[in-house]
Amino acid sequence: MSVRPLIAGNWKMNGLGSESAAQLTDLVEQASEYKDVGCDILICPPALIVREMVTLTKGTNVQIGGQDCHMNVSGAHTGDISAEMLKDAGATYCIVGHSERRTDHLETNEVVKAKAEAAIAAGLIAIVCVGETLEERESGKTLSVISNQVKNSLPSDVTAQNTVVAYEPVWAIGTGKTPTPDDVAEVHAHIRSDLKSVMSDADGVRLLYGGSVKGSNAAELMALEHVNGGLVGGASLKAGDFWPIVETSI
Ligand code: PEP
Repeated sequence: MSVRPLIAGNWKMNGLGSESAAQLTDLVEQASEYKDVGCDILICPPALIVREMVTLTKGTNVQIGGQDCHMNVSGAHTGDISAEMLKDAGATYCIVGHSERRTDHLETNEVVKAKAEAAIAAGLIAIVCVGETLEERESGKTLSVISNQVKNSLPSDVTAQNTVVAYEPVWAIGTGKTPTPDDVAEVHAHIRSDLKSVMSDADGVRLLYGGSVKGSNAAELMALEHVNGGLVGGASLKAGDFWPIVETSI
């Protein structure tokens, strides 16, 4: 089954207005050379500039997403933003359960699941992140940890259209280290098989790899079976670094 890849950039807590706008404008210009780039291109900037970035990308083949959302639609949750607010600002996707959220904000699988469901209810596509720690990998627990996260973090109404799964080994995020292609292929095949046990259109779900993806390793990683794109942190901040990664999926 052919699945349209997704190359997503996660800007995390980086970038101020004018510099972010300049990088996004460069990316849009690169992408505009293609009528159809053959993959979905997504940038998830800090929430504060989502609306501005949506304006900059209107009518282009670059989409804008959120990095997180609250599980509730509105209410007394100081400092949080809801999926509906992201949707209202023009976002189309929302990352949930990034390992930095799981660690910094003690988000459990149950919280991640509720956030994914909130994102979908608001009309966004949820990008649900899973991944093992180094300790878990070294003690041979990778596949069971991933299965547990997939089983408990995915929304109950999961479909290939409303959910993307990103495999991001925690030890590979921002470290310059990546698993071997064989290790990535093994985990992605495992996730696909887990999905098949809970949904009928599992083959259509996009499975992203994330963790120190850069121009020099993207082609090999993106070509693996069951890898349908990437979630990119550091290398998404500059259009000149991100574009070569996008190009591997064109
Ligand atoms: C991420 O933040 O999701 C990520 C994968 O970061 P990096 O590419 O910098 O490792």
